[in-house]
Formats: sequence, C-alpha cells, structure tokens
Amino acid sequence: MSNELKEELSIFKETVIRFIENEVAPEYEQWEKNKIIPKSFYQKMGNEGLLCCDLPEEYGGFGVPVDFNFLVVEEIAKAGFFSLAANLLVHADIAAHYILNMGTDDQKRKYLPLMITGECIGAICMTEPSAGSDLQGMKTYAKRTNDGWSISGSKTFISNGQNASVYIVAAKTNLEVAGAKGTTLFLVDGDQEGFERGQNLNKLGQHASDTSELFFDNVNVTKANVLGNVDEGFLGLMHELPRERLACAVAGVGHAKGALNLALSYIKERQAFGSPIASIQDIRQKIADMATQVELHSLMIEKYTELLMAKNLSASQAAMAKYSCTEMEGKVIDLALQMFGGYGYMSEYPISRFYVDARVQRIYGGTSEIMKEIIGKDVIGRL
Ligand SMILES: Cc1cc2nc3c(=O)[nH]c(=O)nc-3n(C[C@H](O)[C@H](O)[C@H](O)COP(=O)(O)OP(=O)(O)OC[C@H]3O[C@@H](n4cnc5c(N)ncnc54)[C@H](O)[C@@H]3O)c2cc1C
Repeated sequence: MSNELKEELSIFKETVIRFIENEVAPEYEQWEKNKIIPKSFYQKMGNEGLLCCDLPEEYGGFGVPVDFNFLVVEEIAKAGFFSLAANLLVHADIAAHYILNMGTDDQKRKYLPLMITGECIGAICMTEPSAGSDLQGMKTYAKRTNDGWSISGSKTFISNGQNASVYIVAAKTNLEVAGAKGTTLFLVDGDQEGFERGQNLNKLGQHASDTSELFFDNVNVTKANVLGNVDEGFLGLMHELPRERLACAVAGVGHAKGALNLALSYIKERQAFGSPIASIQDIRQKIADMATQVELHSLMIEKYTELLMAKNLSASQAAMAKYSCTEMEGKVIDLALQMFGGYGYMSEYPISRFYVDARVQRIYGGTSEIMKEIIGKDVIGRL
C-alpha cells in the first residue's frame, strides 16, 4: 500500500470513528431493541460519504480503492456494532457490486446512485428453506411469459430483508438442466406486485440486523429486471464470491480487534489476589495468542485486499480468508469473554454482545465446512 493511500485512509478513519461515536453509539441500543436499523440512518451514512465509497464517480461514488469500504465495515465491527456491519456489508460490498459488475447501463443508473445516497438498500437472496449450502436445491422458479418472467417461490434468512428496496433474487429458469445451471438473477423492487416480506426473524445475536423470509407469488418481471445473462446466474455468483467472503473476513478481524481492546482495558482494572489480573501469567499468555492471531489475520486481509484490487484473489484464497478470519474471531472473542469472568456473561457488558454476534459469521456467506471443501479441493487438485 502506498504512503499516500495510507495517509488518506488514516484521515478517513478519523471521520468514520467520529461518525460511529456521534451517530451510531447513542442509537444502537434502541435499534437492537427495535430489531431494525431505521432506513433513514442509511441516508445519514450516504450523506457522510460512507456508503459504497468505491463505486465509480459517474454514479456518485468516490471511485476510491476497496480499502475505504472495508475500513468502514472494520471500524463498525471493532466498535461492537456488528448488526450494522453485517447489513452494510451486504448492501455495499455485495448487492451494489453485483449490479456494478453485471448490470446493464440502465440498471446501474437506476440503482447505484440511490445505493450510494442510502435511499435504496440492497439485499441478496439465495437461501431457501431447502437450499442453503447446497443451492442446487433451489425451488424458486421464474416461468417465461410473453414479455418476461413470472417468479414464484420463497427465500429465507435474507439480510436487509425488511429494509431493502432492491432484491437480487436467484431463481431457476431452466428445469431441464441439472445442478447449478439454469439459474438466473433478477432485480426485484420491494413494491412489485406479488412480492411480500415475511417476518423479521428472531435471532441469537445481531438483533438490529433485519433478517427475513421473502415470498414471491407470480411476481412479473421483464427483460429489464434480468441481472447478467439468462441461465448464467451461478457464474455471476461465483464471480462475486471472493469479494463477499473477504468482506466477511474483514468484519471478523475488526470484531476480534474490538474484543481484544475490551479485554486489555478490563484486565488492567480487574483485581484478583491483590493485583490486576493482567499480571497473571496465564492471562498474559492468552493475550499473546489473541494479539498474534489478530496480527496474522490483519496481514492476510491486507495482502488479499491487494489481490482483490488486482482481480487476482482466487475462490480458494477468499475461502481461506473467510474460514480462518471468522474462526479466529470466534476464538479471540471467547477468550476475551473468559477474562471478564461472570461479568462477561452479563448483557450490560459489551463483550457478551460480541460473543453472540460473532457466532453466525462461521455460518453465513458459506459455512466453515463449505470453505474447507473449497480449499481442500483446490489444494488437492494442484497436486
Ligand atoms: C443471520 C443470517 C443472515 C443471512 N443472510 C443471508 C443473505 O443475506 N442472503 C442469503 O441468500 N442467505 C443468507 N443467509 C443464509 C446462509 O448463507 C445459510 O444459512 C448458510 O449458507 C448455510 O445454509 P443452511 O442454513 O441451509 O445450512 P445447511 O446447508 O443445511 O448446513 C447444515 C450443516 O451441514 C454442513 N454441511 C452442509 N453441506 C456440507 C458439506 N458438503 N460438507 C461438510 N458440511 C456440510 C454445514 O456446514 C452446516 O454445518 C443468512 C443466514 C443467517 C443465519
């Protein structure tokens, strides 16, 4: 990374931290209680230039390197506001880039400027009750009509499910072909007839993040709603996965850094056997492990972000980052919570929220087991 970029990022970081302290921290508890972040907040982020910063200037973005986007996600995760980090990531690092990379000129002009201002929130809809890790089980079907397609089916566990205005929906378009073939991506607007948002699901953590079921009952769409090529939705999905998985990894590293910071403050204050627990050798050893893991994974992120920018991050490397960074996140947060003793288990101690929020990082965006399948097949295939 050049010195110039480092300097720009460090100035941007101050803006982001100030924004988190002033605009997120005072509201976050209420959002968690409400189980949703108000839509208007995304516009606040947009006004501050914190949404989709790396989109091209012609759509209203800053055209800056992806590092700026990742910095926003990492700082929010580090501060412990993980519901926001997760929703933001889906909007800015996944949905917006599907449209940028696969959309027609008209689609890009319709959605991207509004995604940058926060007036339009994006969601990505793959998972169904019978299709998670194995998307070949997808049942949502788009039937050809005279002037387009009619989509019927359902999706579940969709992040931004309540707040989104544009949904990128994967549906089968060709039942004749087996496996991953014959799937198409569609852009479905939130107000389209036949489309219905289901309940905002109750979760173990990330309460402020809206995660929903979605229903499609003969939703009529035209050619203008097809994202990418008909029957080639999985190719688009494969193309976008490295960025999606690296973004999850970035959030994981930020989250682990935040937990380490909380633990460091606490062990210096908490007294046991006549001195701060930081003076206990076992605590120091654990801190050494945590700090080493955070450092290692930060370096991995730095290197892989460069590869992503150079369009050289492979599916296997992205899987390594997602797998290793989110597993590390879980371990570091668990150790940090342990240092808080019983207080760590109390809701008023932020570390307890880190703990519940982190768990799903090893599940969504591809489970750790699926990541290992991708890595294992790639590595063995090279022999
Ligand atoms: C909070 C949250 C937000 C989400 N957001 C979105 C979203 O925005 N959009 C979206 O489309 N989806 C989203 N998901 C869905 C998520 O991506 C899936 O839950 C995930 O891919 C796993 O699918 P599944 O839940 O059906 O589990 P399953 O696929 O049924 O897996 C069950 C278990 O079997 C294991 N398993 C399955 N196959 C293999 C294999 N071949 N080898 C080894 N182990 C295997 C899995 O690792 C897992 O441990 C979200 C989920 C959650 C919980």
